[in-house]
Amino acid sequence: MEAEPAVRVSGLVKRYGSKTAVDGLDLSVGRNTVTAVLGPNGAGKTTTVETCEGYRRPDAGTVRVLGMDPVADAARLRPRVGVMLQSGGVYPGARAVEMLRHTARLHAHPLDVDALVERLGLGSCGRTAYRRLSGGQQQRLALAMAVVGRPELVFLDEPTAGLDPQARHATWDLVRDLRSDGVTVVLTTHAMDEAEELADDVAIVDRGKVIAQGSPEELRRAGDGRPEQEALRFRGRAGLDLGALLKALPDGTAAAELTPGSYRVQGPLDPQLLATVAAWCAQVGVMPDRLTVERRTLEDVFLDLTGRDLRS
Ligand code: ATP
Repeated sequence: MEAEPAVRVSGLVKRYGSKTAVDGLDLSVGRNTVTAVLGPNGAGKTTTVETCEGYRRPDAGTVRVLGMDPVADAARLRPRVGVMLQSGGVYPGARAVEMLRHTARLHAHPLDVDALVERLGLGSCGRTAYRRLSGGQQQRLALAMAVVGRPELVFLDEPTAGLDPQARHATWDLVRDLRSDGVTVVLTTHAMDEAEELADDVAIVDRGKVIAQGSPEELRRAGDGRPEQEALRFRGRAGLDLGALLKALPDGTAAAELTPGSYRVQGPLDPQLLATVAAWCAQVGVMPDRLTVERRTLEDVFLDLTGRDLRS
């Protein structure tokens, strides 16, 4: 029998008055993976995550977290699940590091608070009240609070939104370490590079449903494929005769000199195509300078699937 996934959401529906925020959403999160939930503003990501955290009750469908019901089994889940809310979820008057120490004491096997404070750069915030911290410091503290209890599963809602590059990288390192310690991480993000960097699995949510799920690589390759989004680019002598190259390239591939000395071969990329281009370069005696492989990005996939219109 396959192990129960860390999170299993089936047919989740959540309405706010007449607004359907989540509309029959299915999502499965494997244990010991990092899953990134992406989607346009208002797609229903936060509502879904908050339902998994037990803060909201489904109007229909089922949610299982570590095999349990997040509302009915909240007390049993609390020590095993870490939660970082978008809005912090922290007492505004509490002193930053004291609060973290207090949270650590509530758990049986907490992380070392000083080490966590150090790695998230919270050392200077020690006795400062939470409400006086900068936005980025508040966010790092919320992250620390979510992980200090050494949870099996953590939910991170936009953990790096608004962080400076240093804090972003510190957060990414922490997520990688959590994963190698066997923790399951579910995070929402609008940063495609973050999803590509961290996620084993990406779920794209739109209008309250998961419309695609897979590894970043699977998603890049999925669907009809958009060969025009893949290209090899290089520089060489101006005016090279592309005739022999065009003959050697497979159907569906195009080659052109875009500006003098700047070449682009467009089409589905594979090692054979690279070999063909390299062989042609050798034949015409040109060293391909600044040779780059341009792949379809997760952002291309995201925009293809969810469209380019702004969401109201
Ligand atoms: P974002 O990327 O902007 O954070 P999201 O994907 O997390 O968006 P949700 O916050 O889940 O989206 O919101 C989904 C929809 O539900 C939106 O249309 C939002 O306006 C609506 N909504 C969310 N919370 C409430 C609430 N408490 N009352 C009424 N409507 C709500």
